[in-house]
Amino acid sequence: MGGIDLHTHSSRSDGTLPPAEVVRLAALTGLEVVGLTDHDTTAGVPEAEAAGAELGIEVVPGIELSAEYEGRSVHVLAYWADPAEPELRAELERLRDERLGRAVGMIDKLRELGIAISLERVREIAGGGPIVRPHIAQALVEVGAVASEQEAFDRYIADGGPAYVEKHALHPVDAVRLVLRAGGVCVLAHPGLWDDRSGGSGVPEEVIEAMAAAGMQGLEVEHPDHEPEDRERFRRLAARLRLVPTGGSDFHGERLERSPLGGARCDPEAFAELRALARRSAREA
Ligand code: MN
Ligand code: MN
Ligand code: MN
Repeated sequence: MGGIDLHTHSSRSDGTLPPAEVVRLAALTGLEVVGLTDHDTTAGVPEAEAAGAELGIEVVPGIELSAEYEGRSVHVLAYWADPAEPELRAELERLRDERLGRAVGMIDKLRELGIAISLERVREIAGGGPIVRPHIAQALVEVGAVASEQEAFDRYIADGGPAYVEKHALHPVDAVRLVLRAGGVCVLAHPGLWDDRSGGSGVPEEVIEAMAAAGMQGLEVEHPDHEPEDRERFRRLAARLRLVPTGGSDFHGERLERSPLGGARCDPEAFAELRALARRSAREA
């Protein structure tokens, strides 16, 4: 089996390529399976699936759900979840609505810091999809307030930064329950990325244990931001907690160029396990 990349973003959230282009690029890259995991939306999935059918690429329908622990983002990947399941649908709607309010809050804080960006422009950049922080970062680059999107995060909008606004978010354990009720398979995204104050150790192990106890099935071990020693540590943790070790590039198109499509991948055996769990989860939901 060829390559499997289970973590990608399209222009339906903060990626730069439309869903069909992500799948086309996957085909060109020699991948056989690509998971589309836009933030808090499945809006790009039908287009990606249509392109996949045409190109012979398996598209795994996914969502990267925003949860939070101690005021810091924890991202939860949901695969094969039913987006029409009422509670999941309500939560996705709530997350999207609150993102708008949060964008307004961040723009206000930036104004207090002497930097003017317009909500109108940020909405334009978001292209009708959920507004996420990279859209604000792009607007900050455009007005010349910072030289790069990374600098926008570092100076202003990273978690806890001077223009950061918290958003409503589920506790990670509740996110797991929500995904399982919608018949999905749940994987903790990039456990090594959490809060810089954690000294790089990532999402606290007790949180990962609680998520596993609530029925989470996988842990994203292969991710471009994980150093080799992180991968080793999370591989051992996954084995101990009986979580499927998955992988993906977190591809965002031209945004965050550090992650080319297929730049981190899921092992075929792990993917087969994940798919078997999805069938079981769907039956039990
Ligand atoms: Mn993103
Ligand atoms: Mn993420
Ligand atoms: Mn992501």
